Amino acid sequence: MSAQSSAMARQPASEVLVIGAGVAGLATALAAAPRAVRVLDAGAPGGDGASIWAQGGIAAAVGTGDAPAQHAADTLAAGQWRNDPVAVRHLTERAPDVIDWLERLGVRFDRDGDGALLLGREAAHGRMRIVHARGDATGAEVMRALTRAAVRCAHIAVAPQCRAFALARADDGRVVGAWAWNGHAVELWPARAVVLATGGYAALYRHTTNPAGNDGGGIALALAAGAAVADLEFVQFHPTALALPEASGQLPLLTEALRGAGAVLIDGSGQRFMPAEHPLAELAPRDVVARAVAARTLAGHAAFLDARAAVGAAFPEHFPTVFAACMRAGIDPRTQPVPITPAAHYCMGGVRVDADARSSLDGLYAVGEAACTGVHGANRLASNSLLEGLVFGRALGQHLAAALPAAAAGAALPCPRTYAPLDAATRAALADVLWTYAGLVRDEAGLAHAATRIAAWRATREPGASAADLLDLAAALIAAMRARRECVGAHWRRDVRAAA
Ligand SMILES: Cc1cc2nc3c(=O)[nH]c(=O)nc-3n(C[C@H](O)[C@H](O)[C@H](O)COP(=O)(O)OP(=O)(O)OC[C@H]3O[C@@H](n4cnc5c(N)ncnc54)[C@H](O)[C@@H]3O)c2cc1C
Repeated sequence: MSAQSSAMARQPASEVLVIGAGVAGLATALAAAPRAVRVLDAGAPGGDGASIWAQGGIAAAVGTGDAPAQHAADTLAAGQWRNDPVAVRHLTERAPDVIDWLERLGVRFDRDGDGALLLGREAAHGRMRIVHARGDATGAEVMRALTRAAVRCAHIAVAPQCRAFALARADDGRVVGAWAWNGHAVELWPARAVVLATGGYAALYRHTTNPAGNDGGGIALALAAGAAVADLEFVQFHPTALALPEASGQLPLLTEALRGAGAVLIDGSGQRFMPAEHPLAELAPRDVVARAVAARTLAGHAAFLDARAAVGAAFPEHFPTVFAACMRAGIDPRTQPVPITPAAHYCMGGVRVDADARSSLDGLYAVGEAACTGVHGANRLASNSLLEGLVFGRALGQHLAAALPAAAAGAALPCPRTYAPLDAATRAALADVLWTYAGLVRDEAGLAHAATRIAAWRATREPGASAADLLDLAAALIAAMRARRECVGAHWRRDVRAAA
């Protein structure tokens, strides 16, 4: 479909325009009071991004004997010390305060009989520090409270079913709003500050834990406008998605908290394979576990998550989301090992921002998974991403409440794009190409092949059509993977020797 209204509507100007109503966008909007904030979302508010799917929880040094410095040390180790240490300190020091803030907004975290927060354990965390809600439904509970708070705030207006597809620029280059498709027409949404909170691009892959809307569309429109991006090559693959026969697109996730609770990984003969791979066995960093699982599944052997002994009969109570997904697939995880596959899960890279979430374009900011703050380095530590969206979103909101960028000298220039989403056939073919040649393990020959395929699709697009922007993002992803000739964190190349 290609659609462009001849008479484009213009919405009233707001002070802040937030694109994306996940945790990062809503945290920004709430903290920006009393600024007039419009929040656009391509789907239903709170329903269409990754946030609502988050299971394990939020990392925060709130346990006895824990400290933000220890949380920071684990974050840096998981990121292979490619993280920005200042951003990491900012993240981990503010984590306990974010948990308090969420509770004040009405989030009901799981607590023990004495009222203390129950803490879970996930891979590469040195201790129990994962705050969670309703067992494995943390994202849904946090989004329930944030959405309810946003609806009640007079300074926030949420516009669902509006997909931004281009940034509006003034003739001095400043970003002064966004162009969005509302299902019928193109509208201009003018604002003094524009915040991209559109999530990541893991759904570009054939197998993913992400909903379809997390295809990087927001990052693509920033890239099209000339914004700098960074670390695109660092894509995290989760080792334990539920392997459904013949499935593509979003697969149910089996949270890492299951392994934190003692579940183990076994092969088809019932043998554990992780102790031979890493001293931390099932709780090794995600990339290590994912490659070990892939080594078995790609060789034609099955791999399973076995929670029978560790969780067993407590499954429905402690992990209700995972339990329901397994039962829907005809597997009872209390009594059966669950078949697993790695799946694209999280993007460490995105629109490059500074400590105040400012992009390289005046007037444009980015938060959450759409942004690259440098906090995750080459690999994200589990349960640091809801936290990142909340900490950096809140800080940006407070910053914009205190000081908005100056108004642009001129009015918005005409819309630079035609709204034309990528067709389903090309999108499916792109998902296969990325999975096969730009997946968990890559090499130059495969990446070069992927680049050629993407360039061929790109050449058939009408100039200025927004579908081309998604292909340009895919091309930038491949280019970043080709440029990094090393094995580090989530970026693993079979044609480059890994450092000892
Ligand atoms: C299954 C699963 C489990 C996870 N578990 C955890 C966990 O336990 N702990 C943790 O920390 N992290 C977890 N994560 C990661 C975490 O959920 C995400 O990184 C985080 O929620 C991202 O939040 P966000 O606000 O940046 O983006 P999202 O929540 O993805 O929200 C983006 C929003 O932008 C909208 N949007 C996108 N493009 C456009 C556009 N062009 N115009 C308008 N709107 C647009 C979307 O509709 C969506 O509502 C998990 C992820 C998944 C998929």
